[in-house]
Amino acid sequence: MQELLIKNGFVYDPINGIKGEKKDICIRDGKIVEEVKSPEVIDAEGRVVMPGGVDIHSHIAGGKINSGRLFRPEDGRKGREPKTKVCRSQSGYSVPNTFTTGYRYAKMGYTFVMEPAMPPLLARHTHEEFIDIPILDNAAIPLIDNNWMTFDYVKSGDIEKLAAYISWIVKATKGYGVKLVNPVGTDAWGWAKNVGLNDVSEDWGVTSAQVIRALAEANEKFEMPHSIHLHQNNIGRPGNYEMTLDTYDVTKGVKASKDRPVTHPTHQQFFSYGGTSWKDFESKAKDIAEYVNKNEHVSLDLGSIILGDTTTMTADGPMEYTLYQITGRKWTNMDVELETGAGITPFLYSGKNPVHSIQWTIGLEISLRMKDLWRLALTTDHPNAGPFIGYPILISLLMSKKRRDEVLAEIHPAVYDRSELAPLDREYDLYEIAIITRAAPAKILGLHEHGKGHLGVGADGDVAIYDISPEERDAGKIQRAFMNTKCTIKGGQVVVKDGEVIAAPEGRTFFVEPEFEDEETYKGMLSDLEAKFRDYYSVTMRNYPVQDVYTPHPYVIKARMAR
Ligand SMILES: [Zn+2]
Repeated sequence: MQELLIKNGFVYDPINGIKGEKKDICIRDGKIVEEVKSPEVIDAEGRVVMPGGVDIHSHIAGGKINSGRLFRPEDGRKGREPKTKVCRSQSGYSVPNTFTTGYRYAKMGYTFVMEPAMPPLLARHTHEEFIDIPILDNAAIPLIDNNWMTFDYVKSGDIEKLAAYISWIVKATKGYGVKLVNPVGTDAWGWAKNVGLNDVSEDWGVTSAQVIRALAEANEKFEMPHSIHLHQNNIGRPGNYEMTLDTYDVTKGVKASKDRPVTHPTHQQFFSYGGTSWKDFESKAKDIAEYVNKNEHVSLDLGSIILGDTTTMTADGPMEYTLYQITGRKWTNMDVELETGAGITPFLYSGKNPVHSIQWTIGLEISLRMKDLWRLALTTDHPNAGPFIGYPILISLLMSKKRRDEVLAEIHPAVYDRSELAPLDREYDLYEIAIITRAAPAKILGLHEHGKGHLGVGADGDVAIYDISPEERDAGKIQRAFMNTKCTIKGGQVVVKDGEVIAAPEGRTFFVEPEFEDEETYKGMLSDLEAKFRDYYSVTMRNYPVQDVYTPHPYVIKARMAR
């Protein structure tokens, strides 16, 4: 029986309503308990204590991430650290290697990361990398929106069969839910085309709006822990905020099977753009935040920009081609048969560039205008808007108006005319930071019911102790504290001490098994799917599902059909 007692810390545990109270945390056998008898004692000495961080959207594992590493040896040369007794060799900044990913997150006090875009056919690769990523618990959401099976059922309006297919493919990939990336558009990109929300696909006779609505309805046929996870059409283009608002409306009125929103539009910074071209590009963060403040069917994460060099990578193939045209830097692109695609391009967000500077303001502006922080999660869409190790910078900016003003004064002056960040004087407190970095993402993902994002009895013994007092207001000190914890505890084991990784246990993979009940419908779906494998796939159906050996530490969540 292994026991830990964390004393004298100021605890921020928003799910349990604890706002910086001096409180003991007891852990036995990896779980939070009421009391302990003969524990190892950790004296937090007046520091800030939070549940382990939960990242809702970060591209850390799988085919395109590994392609990014191979594609950018110059990035790999950054952040190199030799191996230690505990740690394997580290490398990479925006595309760190698997080991580095685990260590850096743990140092920031994070213990769970969601990989938000798993091509179903390449699911094994994602799981193989999860095995290599130390410390973190993880999960991955399969891409189901540019899938030929999905198109067929959207076209025929058969939501039941679509739900049956979701049940099959989420289980087959050991995935966590339903991801959409540029619905219909990624498929159209196979023919060098793209679509908006209401354009009818020449090949499939469906629109993106129909795909989004159908997948939301089919997802809600089950008690899925998470809503659909949506990267809409028209990412990263001037004036796209109108389509963003129209897209939010698409799932209005869909009934949630659980107490959570029905749609999670992701990295919304990239979708909050006004203007008619790059010349009059402006922030529409206000319109986006106002909509979300009024409409509870939507939660979002930020995709906030970190100034500097990064690697963009997305299943949104046409977007990556556009970035390649803009930057003239290298570009790679891929099609995943019948299912999805992807592209990669390096990118530099420069404070000298008016567009990048305005982009930088947007994620912050959305955050500062959001009223219900339980529907907001802090992300950089790692590595698209910047690497995840930029989170401490974002935290310090949200907590300090002074720091924001300093950066605004340094970057392109267009930010004063075409963004409304400068007048906003809201400053987040530590409780609000704890909401958007662990409590809210855990709830939006439904993980709070499975031990994540809080410190109530029965929760996982995942704890971060930050080396600041609750009164700290110095942005630099806040940033440093969130970069390297005093102590990170994962599953009751101390993994980081004084900013050094001292243990690297293996993490668990969470996945959902949606249980479709109607046998006749399921059989009908299977025979449709067999035909797809027979006629089009280059693999057989029998070889497709991910075997149990790919998830050595599974955590299975059964999702019954909604009553
Ligand atoms: Zn993403």
